Amino acid sequence: MTTSKNDILFERAQKSTPGGVNSPVRAFRSVGGTPRFITRAEGPYFWDADGKRYIDYIGSWGPAIVGHAHPQVVKAVQEAATRGLSFGAPTEAEIEMAEEICRLVPSIEQVRLVSSGTEATMSALRLARGATGRDKIVKFEGCYHGHADSLLVKAGSGLLTFGNPTSAGVPEDFVKHTMVLDYNNVEAVRAAFAQYGQEIACVIVEPVAGNMNLIKGTPEFLGALRELCTAHGAVLIFDEVMCGFRVGLGGAQELYGIQPDLTALGKVIGGGLPVAAFGGSQELMSKMSPVGAVYQAGTLSGNPVAVAAGMTTLKLIQQPGFYEGLARSARRLADGLTAAAQEAGVTFCADAEGGMFGLYFSATPPNNYAEMMAGDRDKFNVFFHKMLDEGVYFAPAAFEAGFVSAQHDDAVIDATIAAAKTVFAS
Ligand code: PMP
Repeated sequence: MTTSKNDILFERAQKSTPGGVNSPVRAFRSVGGTPRFITRAEGPYFWDADGKRYIDYIGSWGPAIVGHAHPQVVKAVQEAATRGLSFGAPTEAEIEMAEEICRLVPSIEQVRLVSSGTEATMSALRLARGATGRDKIVKFEGCYHGHADSLLVKAGSGLLTFGNPTSAGVPEDFVKHTMVLDYNNVEAVRAAFAQYGQEIACVIVEPVAGNMNLIKGTPEFLGALRELCTAHGAVLIFDEVMCGFRVGLGGAQELYGIQPDLTALGKVIGGGLPVAAFGGSQELMSKMSPVGAVYQAGTLSGNPVAVAAGMTTLKLIQQPGFYEGLARSARRLADGLTAAAQEAGVTFCADAEGGMFGLYFSATPPNNYAEMMAGDRDKFNVFFHKMLDEGVYFAPAAFEAGFVSAQHDDAVIDATIAAAKTVFAS
């Protein structure tokens, strides 16, 4: 009989919820073992049901950029909550939030707030199709854009085929317009536009991909997407749900100096509560309901409590030196882990971009999905569990990027590297 509260809770959870979790990757299916049930979090740490403390490198999969339970964010949420939880009517705070996003993200002139990244990308896609009157979309293998039907697609076989559903319950008919190409492969995109250029509504891409571990789009690749979309009248959508306000204040578009037509945002902009958004030029966004013909809506969109958390987070990340500090921490972690592995003779490397990082059990960082899949996942799983024992919580799958917060100071990073030295040596 186990005495671990995590084990007991997991057994119990599986009776009332499929797999015991409300989002699949939390279930530890990929790494095996019992998921940790979290009771509280503060700064760079969270604690599980057995009272064990972990250095947290998922940060709620991105949002916790200022650290968990930041006093200013908590205070803003408490104050907003006392004024009412939801109105279903507009508020001044939503205007402020929209103005702030428009000011910070280079390509956004108008923005609509929604409650999840899935809604943001799904709505951006509908807008791209509505604006162009075209059906076909291009996505890249290994990029995740939420769970809307037409985006749950894996690559078909052959260069220019349309994809197959990755989930049961998605009709072939719904994905027959979705073309799935290799990430960072300029030639494949050129060929797609050469053949279907007049039919492609949009290209959607994670400019810095965080759902096949961390893989950076090359400037040539992202530049070619911009050029081809412009030449063929297609809409370029940057899905910055993960990399927005994460790789830098203006997101990947500022980092690369490339302006997409539409941007999807999420995670950081809610500071841990459900806020996401999509935005772009005034011209495109004016096609949205109620002024335009593309429909989209949400009971809790622009929720006052969530907006208070998001707005306070957006203020905190604009403090001088915030992103320099974040990038320094992620780089210190990546370099420290790589050195620790080298010392122990383990094939491993790591990379970082702003406050995101990737850990790879391969000699060099991958450039696309196939290269990422070629990494040694068994080794990752062993590493993951041994680090967990040491009190370090990395994403429970080899396919995920990691995140640092502003509270991951040198001492926290160095403690992580020290733990990794023990683990690599064993
Ligand atoms: N796009 C990207 C790039 C993401 O990383 C995610 C979530 N991990 C989504 C979209 C979907 O966001 P959500 O889970 O809030 O629906």
